[in-house]
Amino acid sequence: MAIERAATDILVLGSGGAGLFAALHARRAAPELSITVATKGLLGKSGCTRMVQGGYNVALHPGDSVERHFMDTIEGGKWLPNQELAWTMVTRAVERVRELENEIGCFFDRNADGSLHGKAFAGQSFDRTVHKGDLTGIEIMNRLMEQVWARPGIARLEEHRALALVPARDGRSLAGALLADIRTGTLRFVAARATLLATGGGPTMYRYHTPSGDKSMDGIAMALRLGVALRDMEMVQFHPTGLLAGPHTRMTGTVLEEGLRGAGGHLLDGAMRRFMGDYDPAGERATRDVVSRAIYAEMRAGRGSPHGGVYIKMSHLGPERVARAFKGMVERCRDCGFDLAGGIVEVVPTAHYFMGGLVCNADTSTELPGLFVAGEDASGMHGANRLGGNGVANSTVFGAIAGDAMPQWIARNTPRAEPDEDCIAAEAARATLPFTRKGGDLNRLRERLMDAMWDDVGVIRDAAGLDRAQAALDDIEAELAATGTADGARAFNLAWHDWLNLRSLVETSRAIALAARWRTNSRGAHFRADFREPGDLAASRFSVVRYRDGRLAVADAPVVFSHVRPGETLNETAAAE
Ligand SMILES: Cc1cc2nc3c(=O)[nH]c(=O)nc-3n(C[C@H](O)[C@H](O)[C@H](O)COP(=O)(O)OP(=O)(O)OC[C@H]3O[C@@H](n4cnc5c(N)ncnc54)[C@H](O)[C@@H]3O)c2cc1C
Repeated sequence: MAIERAATDILVLGSGGAGLFAALHARRAAPELSITVATKGLLGKSGCTRMVQGGYNVALHPGDSVERHFMDTIEGGKWLPNQELAWTMVTRAVERVRELENEIGCFFDRNADGSLHGKAFAGQSFDRTVHKGDLTGIEIMNRLMEQVWARPGIARLEEHRALALVPARDGRSLAGALLADIRTGTLRFVAARATLLATGGGPTMYRYHTPSGDKSMDGIAMALRLGVALRDMEMVQFHPTGLLAGPHTRMTGTVLEEGLRGAGGHLLDGAMRRFMGDYDPAGERATRDVVSRAIYAEMRAGRGSPHGGVYIKMSHLGPERVARAFKGMVERCRDCGFDLAGGIVEVVPTAHYFMGGLVCNADTSTELPGLFVAGEDASGMHGANRLGGNGVANSTVFGAIAGDAMPQWIARNTPRAEPDEDCIAAEAARATLPFTRKGGDLNRLRERLMDAMWDDVGVIRDAAGLDRAQAALDDIEAELAATGTADGARAFNLAWHDWLNLRSLVETSRAIALAARWRTNSRGAHFRADFREPGDLAASRFSVVRYRDGRLAVADAPVVFSHVRPGETLNETAAAE
């Protein structure tokens, strides 16, 4: 099979907040190096950074401190975060927000005195979420995109999907990545001295999910196949209030933001009864994991709404006030035929964010020399739960660090590694497998995957369900391998890409189910009905999943409390300006 060849010094896979920050920083750090951004969607217009509504957590308001932001992150993560990574995130977020405003050209909302406005977000001891109305991601991505366009030295491969990470012939480092040009169907190996994985995770294997359609856990699946260690794979964050508009529309699953509950919205069961008081004294204002579990329990008990979810009601706050405060949400609901301001809207927990991912260091390097990772593909920053507002902080902070670190790494490791040609051939053959099989029903397979993950590896888990899911995943994987695309043309063959999406989702679902089976306690986003207690926080361990001798295996390691131990608080040494 013909495979085109290209070469670059730095290859960035993905063009969300992490990918674009990395490209800009690498360009500034080493203008003599060639940089290529390859992305499955359009540059800056794909991925979830663009979808950020709420905002960006940063400790730069008077009275706040990075120590408080750090403690909120550690406590929110149920003492599972890697504290070095969390500390790097909260301290560098201050630099990144200044860079976004002063160099990249973003305008965030301000108070009357000209200072940055910070809004309240769940799980935080300070109102530190900076934002641009409820369209923060669009502001960040539009400005980043303009900066990348203004630098012709950054080459762009849009609608290029990474299929596999390719190691060097001696296996000691990464040599580049195999890509598919979605527009032509051409396969291309891009040799790179340093490669950044920034494909943004994306747990879209659940019946209800929020991330953009181009995300299918590809980066994490590629790393898994290569034998790279993955951490916290059991940690899938569900947002409690996804729109439930019926099975006929992709709008089902999209987020109705947390601010609705924060502002005083009520959750009602199918009989119009408020139920959150039965689960938590904070009622509707409890954290995402608690509210998601309560809704799921109501649904399972058969007390749901017509489509099987529950209702959110805002009208008691005054329809005009709601329409003013939540303009975007109200319009989105109206487009789907619902009156959020004056009526009731069906909602359901929806898979929102993936806390698991590649094990990495604070400089974004991984155990495989030449492979770097940033954004939602990386793990350890959030532990068992991501605070709202820490997602975009994570992707921009570590994207920038990767952009600074890769040129330094290249300077220390000059020779370009020869790629493993057998791996390129094998991965090309695997990726084009569906062209050698008879056409089948990919839609039905996707439905089966979504059901298995939602029912048995979702909001509430137990051993029997997780075993059932593993068996279902075995069947789905076998059937997928036997299923082809009816159309043999490769240019813009969306069925082929559906097949590839499913492959990544099934591979990573197996790792999620395995890690969830291993964790016999309940922490943050991971809840086991058969092990309801969190366990001893001081003896916290995290899961590590990888392929060993051709088999997926789970191990664990102790959390290192490098800054603070359970029961302690980090002293505020430096007040923010
Ligand atoms: C609806 C919604 C609202 C959110 N609101 C907030 C919020 O208010 N605050 C907050 O902090 N976080 C929020 N988040 C989370 C936040 O968006 C993410 O944490 C963060 O933006 C991820 O950045 P990233 O750069 O890792 O990935 P993304 O921005 O998702 O970018 C991923 C990129 O990788 C590309 N890609 C995917 N697969 C491949 C492949 N195989 N090959 C090449 N390229 C590939 C995609 O096309 C895309 O360009 C929200 C998420 C969603 C879904």
